[in-house]
Amino acid sequence: MADRCAIYPGTFDPITNGHVDIIERASHLFDRIIVVIARNSKKQPLFAEDERQVMIRDAVSALPNVSVDVCEGLLVEYARQQKAAAIVRGLRAVSDFEYEFQIALMNRKLEPAISTVFLMPHEKYCFLSSTIIREVARFGRDVRDLVPAEVARRLNNKFATHRIE
Ligand code: ADP
Repeated sequence: MADRCAIYPGTFDPITNGHVDIIERASHLFDRIIVVIARNSKKQPLFAEDERQVMIRDAVSALPNVSVDVCEGLLVEYARQQKAAAIVRGLRAVSDFEYEFQIALMNRKLEPAISTVFLMPHEKYCFLSSTIIREVARFGRDVRDLVPAEVARRLNNKFATHRIE
């Protein structure tokens, strides 16, 4: 049987333990996972794209069937090029549902052969988002329990520099 590939798209600004939890779960379900940084011109990210890529690579280095890439255009187009069977998304709470539902149905209309698969993280990560991490780290608080070690180090460097300025 052909290998089953899934893509896991997001902004990952930065990757958190919630994202890593979803990637681990997905890596058991599919032969190959591509974590895709989706370029979004509307968002002004804290971390540059290459930095986000390095942090994701570092966080998934123990998972041999996971790779990292960047997508510029339409996501379903990218998924089709990669011969992906599925798009993985994380569902933390009902509040994620409406937005995710809308995107998933539009993506299915655009590319009926690609299914969106929702995975739930461990409940300890259900409150976690990259936005919350950036906010807490900005004020110098410890986020080491919630993000990979390399992310905590880079957040610390970024905001330490800002604080001196
Ligand atoms: P986006 O900018 O598309 O919201 P994110 O990088 O914030 O991208 O998230 C990518 C995916 O990971 C989304 O499906 C989001 O719901 C999911 N996700 C984000 N944080 C968590 C978490 N703590 N637990 C599980 N899934 C999460």
